[in-house]
Amino acid sequence: MNILVINCGSSSLKFQLIDAETEKLTAKGLCERIGIDGSQITFSPAGGEKIKKEVPMADHKDAIRLVLEALTDADTGVVKSLEEIGAVGHRIVHGGESFAKATVITPDVKAAIAECCDLAPLHNPANLIGIEACEALMPGVPMVAVFDTAFHQTMPEEAYLYAIPYRYYEKYKIRRYGFHGTSHDYVSHRAADLLGKPYEELKIIVCHLGNGASVSAVKNGKCVDTSMGLTPLEGLIMGTRSGDIDPAIIEFIANKEDKSIGEIMTILNKESGVLGISDGLSSDFRDLEDGSVAGNRALKAFALRTAKYIGSYVAAMNGVDAICFTAGVGENSPEIREEICNEYLGYLGITLDDEANHKRGEEIDVTTADSKTKVLVIPTNEELAIARQTYALVK
Ligand code: AMP
Repeated sequence: MNILVINCGSSSLKFQLIDAETEKLTAKGLCERIGIDGSQITFSPAGGEKIKKEVPMADHKDAIRLVLEALTDADTGVVKSLEEIGAVGHRIVHGGESFAKATVITPDVKAAIAECCDLAPLHNPANLIGIEACEALMPGVPMVAVFDTAFHQTMPEEAYLYAIPYRYYEKYKIRRYGFHGTSHDYVSHRAADLLGKPYEELKIIVCHLGNGASVSAVKNGKCVDTSMGLTPLEGLIMGTRSGDIDPAIIEFIANKEDKSIGEIMTILNKESGVLGISDGLSSDFRDLEDGSVAGNRALKAFALRTAKYIGSYVAAMNGVDAICFTAGVGENSPEIREEICNEYLGYLGITLDDEANHKRGEEIDVTTADSKTKVLVIPTNEELAIARQTYALVK
């Protein structure tokens, strides 16, 4: 069965068509600048040439129509008709407390996703538009919602509650939710496979280090803590997001620069992180490795924050068997892994294998045989994880 995986952002849409039985990618692509001048679609059939076209897209429904046309195109498409697409898996950012796992989409599920729009105002509305556009264009095809927050729903109360008046949890459900759950789920399971041990008997820390970044602690098969919170702003230093700061900074800047809370939130989301610390040099970690003082300052702060989270999760789980690195930076930067492990994690008995640490693009144990704690690099594959969960519900 072919599964179409859809990931709708506010002005973009990523898609992959995956054969669920063989788990092979059939095609993938991206629609960008939806609703903005100069929208374009990129379509890459597996093993074929990438096709890029500038086409107007007024909204996500237009985008999905173009995706379906590209998939079924007589010359360059990969399926003969839409009947060859058995189900659609939608990545949904926020499922609140309603969803601890993926679910087949019904009117009630859509209503529950809509209720979470307050908690993820940039993402959930776009996710809903994606669902409705697919329903309109592919009537009768089952749709599944896979939530970024679901994997973290196993966290105990002491990990998810903030130390603010309890009534705010009761009234507004203000609590830690965590994100990147599909990736943390996939990578922690792969870690258990690579270690050849039962998932339920391991203590695993997953560092998803990309433009957005988060760490999770997975103990005996359950997520017990994670660094992102009510929103994806908390925790690690990210490309442009601040991660943890003293909340009093918000009032301080507001008073000094006569700014609104909304303006400061934009600064914390878009102008902070390594971009902010490097004084505007770049949010891309590759650019920060240019040897400049500003780039170095940002990389050092990023590594220290990540190492501190790892240390706190070792404490939360009373030990750790494996630390996993994944996503753009985690998979591709041996320097960052080296800085984190060699500078700060010696007390865990970690010894990196330099040659293994410099390999690219494969699942690999980057420690020496006698390393007391294993460090694994595991390329994440959120789309495959979404396709698997979708298939499991509809087959
Ligand atoms: P992601 O959000 O997982 O797609 O990760 C994207 C980020 O990965 C980019 O912004 C880059 O900063 C980072 N990245 C990609 N390749 C490398 C690399 N070779 N070295 C360091 N960082 C990289």
